[in-house]
Amino acid sequence: MKLALVGIGKIAQDQHVPSLAASPDWELAATCSRAGEVAGVPSYRGFDALLAEREDIKVISLCLPPVPRFDYAQRAIEAGRHVMLEKPPGATLSECHALEDMAREAGVSIYATWHSREAGKVAAAKSWLAGQKVSRAHITWREDVRRWHPGQDWVFDPGGMGVFDPGINALSILTEILPSPVHLKSARLEVPANRQGPIGADLTFTDNVTADLDWRQAGPQSWDIEVETARGLLKLSDGGDTMTLDGVEAGEVSEGGEYPRLYAKMALLVGAGKSEMDLAPLRHVADAFMLGERVIVDPFEF
Ligand code: NAP
Repeated sequence: MKLALVGIGKIAQDQHVPSLAASPDWELAATCSRAGEVAGVPSYRGFDALLAEREDIKVISLCLPPVPRFDYAQRAIEAGRHVMLEKPPGATLSECHALEDMAREAGVSIYATWHSREAGKVAAAKSWLAGQKVSRAHITWREDVRRWHPGQDWVFDPGGMGVFDPGINALSILTEILPSPVHLKSARLEVPANRQGPIGADLTFTDNVTADLDWRQAGPQSWDIEVETARGLLKLSDGGDTMTLDGVEAGEVSEGGEYPRLYAKMALLVGAGKSEMDLAPLRHVADAFMLGERVIVDPFEF
């Protein structure tokens, strides 16, 4: 199937382009970008021109930040194209629901991707936890925003979500592996004096589930989730690529890598005429913004 990538920025170049090049399902037939290009691939500056001139392209993969993404998704659906959304699937829950409704009415597939759910040991963790009672769980997601988002001011703008931009990856894993759903009880958001979005967040959910998200981690980076049960302590590390049970490495590795698996799934959804739009991780983020106590901290510059 032919596909167009829109928004040729960091994640498009790092993950989407190589995953598509290696995929047996997809041909990267065009890009749409205000500035970026992919060597050897026809490039469009205007999205309407791409949609009008390339009826051979049935699938649009949107790699833009969340705020501008809705408008592109709407135009793609109205033009009868299937749509794949980078995470988070939108800047608000309402626009995600609207897109889901539009896609259903237009008879096209829409896929809200959560790349961290495709990390190597997430499926193994989910299957080990199935049916168990969780007594405690804790997320530690501490990374250096300067290293992973150099100069990307949009992450701190309204709709950019601040530290929830990576934190939602942890929440996407949590909502995938926990045997029973939890909801947020309280949150503390640390917002730099010169920014709109938080740079740190402490979250407390029901069932003894907590999260520590921080974007000021200069040394070793931590992307860990611990889940305690009567059977023992499960720990996912490295963003879900490593799993231990009571300190001993365990679990089958899912083959293929995060983005190749997302594209394989999109091929299946389009082939089956289905959609997938799980908004549980975004719901937790929305709750944190609604319920969170805001604490002003030192200004932040890249
Ligand atoms: P980015 O490099 O800052 O932006 C991606 C591209 O979006 C830009 O190069 C630009 O493309 C386009 N764009 C930005 N603002 C726009 C606007 N207002 N209107 C139209 N186009 C605009 O961001 P990114 O890091 O790739 O992140 C994009 C999405 O991927 C985010 O939702 C992020 O959460 C997700 N993601 C990022 C990472 C990561 O490591 N960075 C990892 C996983 C997922 P053109 O200049 O080509 O038009």
